[in-house]
Amino acid sequence: MDNDFEVVVGLEVHVELKTKTKIFCSCSTEFGAEPNSQTCPGCAGFPGALPVLNRRVVEYAIKAGLALNCEIAEFTKFDRKNYFYPDLPGAYQISQLDLPICKNGYLEIDVDGNKKRIGINRAHMEADAGKLVHQGTITTAPYSLVDLNRASVPLLEIVSEPDMRGAREARAYIEKLRSVLLFAGVSDCKMEEGSLRCDANVSVRPWGQKKLGVRTEIKNLNSFRSLEKAIEYEASRHIEAIEDGEKLVQETRTWDEEKQVTHSMRSKEQAEDYRYFPDPDLPPLKISREWVEELRSSIPELPDQAQKRLVEKYDLPEYDAAILTLTPQYLAFFDVAAEGYHDAKTISNWMMGELNRLLNQNNLEIQDCRITPPHLIKMLKLMDEGTISGKIAKTVFEEMFTNGKEPEEIVKEKGLVQISDEETLRSLVKEVLKNNPGVVEDYRNGKQKALGFLVGQMMKTTRGQANPAVVNKLLKEILSGE
Ligand code: ADP
Ligand code: MG
Ligand code: ZN
Repeated sequence: MDNDFEVVVGLEVHVELKTKTKIFCSCSTEFGAEPNSQTCPGCAGFPGALPVLNRRVVEYAIKAGLALNCEIAEFTKFDRKNYFYPDLPGAYQISQLDLPICKNGYLEIDVDGNKKRIGINRAHMEADAGKLVHQGTITTAPYSLVDLNRASVPLLEIVSEPDMRGAREARAYIEKLRSVLLFAGVSDCKMEEGSLRCDANVSVRPWGQKKLGVRTEIKNLNSFRSLEKAIEYEASRHIEAIEDGEKLVQETRTWDEEKQVTHSMRSKEQAEDYRYFPDPDLPPLKISREWVEELRSSIPELPDQAQKRLVEKYDLPEYDAAILTLTPQYLAFFDVAAEGYHDAKTISNWMMGELNRLLNQNNLEIQDCRITPPHLIKMLKLMDEGTISGKIAKTVFEEMFTNGKEPEEIVKEKGLVQISDEETLRSLVKEVLKNNPGVVEDYRNGKQKALGFLVGQMMKTTRGQANPAVVNKLLKEILSGE
């Protein structure tokens, strides 16, 4: 990418608040139900059906706002945003325009150890639209079905300041935002189920220029990875256009995951286009300071505080602490495991290494796999006692991960006990030496690496069960003795 330009990013994030019922009616918000099974005249947009505000939505919005260091409005109201689309049955969305419930917050991000505050301009409540399910193809007469289960599910739209510089900061922001909301307990933040959605606003400007460049807004970002890719692509496109003397237009674009490019979708709509006005069916809200304080005291430990605690209490590197605090379940796993074992860094290593590898490989969250903190502790103790080697431990770990069996059981079942007995190992070592005369020669001629090869051969013949320390000792002894 061209270094003459600075990349500026602002994110608009929608999260579904995890209330049991919708924002203005008592229909269920459960994901994945049969289409249109969770609707009523209210959320289906029938004329005459009146909205009744769900108190829990306001509660979650306030908690989210507090967790994001926002000011909570004393007076807030709902506005109608008018537009016409088949997934919006009432032809208007109930949202908040000029008096949002939360404003002026911030979130701290960390990119490669560089900490930075990203401003949060506002967070407001609104009702989600329904969903269109497209059927058929161009050749088989396409048509669309409407599913209103999602209509009126409560959303919080969180709008950042244009404070991020490039794709990596944007990625760090969305990850941190997700963690904070998960810890605050206000949303599931599942991108794949649509309970976390993100639009990226991107512009570029020559270094040193104060004025922001023309921005485009990218929609349809399905993962953190595509968010990063789309920003990189879009920034390069802007820079190229400017260098070619083309004029950039403010517009809404969509990310094409397959081709890894953005396409123009529509010119940017302005607030006027929506003909906003205060919703006459909903009274404005006064939010008492007592309620805000009560909610503030109910907010549990958040990622930044937890990170600090891990560094202070367990002397962990900040990097480890940042990863261990990505989700509350991940942190809980660590906390329980570290309570039962003397070496927290070892717990952290196993979690960031093997556990993460297996979670990613199987596309699972920690709460969905079968390994528990006691499993890990018992396995580490088997290692400490010398019953299993580090290499065998990885096999045991993988077994625990998939079938939830106890480590002792796996070791017994698979005959994985470490061989430390010198007599047994001595005859095996002699065998290996006999089979590798060339390597023995190399070693005697001063090639230190040859020893590593011989240890490797020993591991191979014992399927990783030989105690490496004993093998090393015996090898040296026999090689120098003969
Ligand atoms: P709108 O409601 O029209 O989308 P907002 O003022 O609410 O406009 O801004 C939307 C988002 O765009 C915010 O996250 C803001 O930080 C970001 N943004 C505004 N201007 C720029 C810019 N020039 N470059 C990058 N992001 C920007
Ligand atoms: Mg916007
Ligand atoms: Zn309903």
